[in-house]
Amino acid sequence: MPYLAINGGPRTVPEGAIRPWPPVDDTDRAAVLASLAGTNHAFGPNCVAFQEEFAAWNGNAFAVATNSGTAALHMCLAAVGCGCGDEVIVPAYSWSSSATCVLHHNAIPVFVDIRFDTMNIDPDRIEAAITERTKAIIVVHLHGLPAEMDAILAIARRHGLAVIEDACQAHGATYRGRRVGTIGDCAAFSFNQNKCLCSGEGGMFVTDRQDLVEKARMLWSFGETRTPVEARDYHAYALGWMYRMSDLVAAFGRAELKKLDDYLAVIAENARAFLDEIEGAPGLILPTIPDGCGTNWYNLMVRLDMASFGWNGPPVEFRNRFLKALLAEGADAGCYQRFILPAMTVFQAKNAYGSGCPWRCGRDVSYDPSAFPEAQRHTDTHIGMTTPLRPPNTPETARLVARAFRKVAEHADELTR
Ligand SMILES: *Cc1c(COP(=O)(O)O)cnc(C)c1O
Repeated sequence: MPYLAINGGPRTVPEGAIRPWPPVDDTDRAAVLASLAGTNHAFGPNCVAFQEEFAAWNGNAFAVATNSGTAALHMCLAAVGCGCGDEVIVPAYSWSSSATCVLHHNAIPVFVDIRFDTMNIDPDRIEAAITERTKAIIVVHLHGLPAEMDAILAIARRHGLAVIEDACQAHGATYRGRRVGTIGDCAAFSFNQNKCLCSGEGGMFVTDRQDLVEKARMLWSFGETRTPVEARDYHAYALGWMYRMSDLVAAFGRAELKKLDDYLAVIAENARAFLDEIEGAPGLILPTIPDGCGTNWYNLMVRLDMASFGWNGPPVEFRNRFLKALLAEGADAGCYQRFILPAMTVFQAKNAYGSGCPWRCGRDVSYDPSAFPEAQRHTDTHIGMTTPLRPPNTPETARLVARAFRKVAEHADELTR
């Protein structure tokens, strides 16, 4: 008799038990309808208020509302004065735009491997990647776990580099008691569908420095030097993009921001329930949270210890079978990234701006994927989960999903024979 649902056994998580993210209630509906009843649907009063409220919530002096986290990242590169052919250090494992934002600014990403335990950039490998052309380090607080900022800031100071925080997944995460996004020179947040603060699409550039916000704003709105709420002279002073947020999106984002602290508390409680229920299941590597780091549990990662399952084949093959079995159990889990960043075609083929740009403007760096073994090992063995830990889901939902992981782990012989 098979135990696993994928082989005809009973399923662990009942149909409909996992509810979708984000919860939308009457406060969201009222806010969006009020925006619709107004007269400025472009960068309007909700955008101005959202900037102020988000800056206050996170503890930043300045915030600029954007139409994506990627736009905010691109603005970070402009803010720190990155130029054509300059090099920027980026972790080898992240969302693609943590690195393509560098290409957007005609600069060159140089990858550094991650630490397997934290999944964040390995500070011990950063200095070997620094050259006389290096301008900045992009640190990603991946899955809501802060990177090792003390070590990274010390390296940056030693070499005169700017530090950009990709906080797109890390709303509310803390490093030694400080909110991420307040530690480096400037930072980017995302309000995409999946993030802990969802406005549909959207993002926020934040900084505490007046000079940086001024440079970022030039890129944000057609290369103009005035914001859409001031008297504009409609003059392009620099090469600009159109990265502004719309009022409807800001209205939704503001309504969700009011609920964000409650959301983060529920996510933390659900994560604790998941970890409590899964403890002791065989072959699973559970997250480690270093001292001084407060994660927001954006995406809870479980890695498979191939040797303990007696699997000698390609790790990806077993991970994929494990994931399929989990999905059959009704667990809403998934693979976050199937490729490390340097292995992606845009870097392998160097097909960014064409004609060899930006590499022709600087150094022709190597993107040999074999130089990033920790990132590869993580990519090949991970399974992550977001929605089951998010409200309106409860600790009971999280425990059900943990039971699905445990069941597949305990009956993994059904996957290998
Ligand atoms: C989501 C995300 C981004 C991009 O944000 P968008 O709003 O989708 O442009 C960048 N970096 C990381 C780590 C992300 O998770």
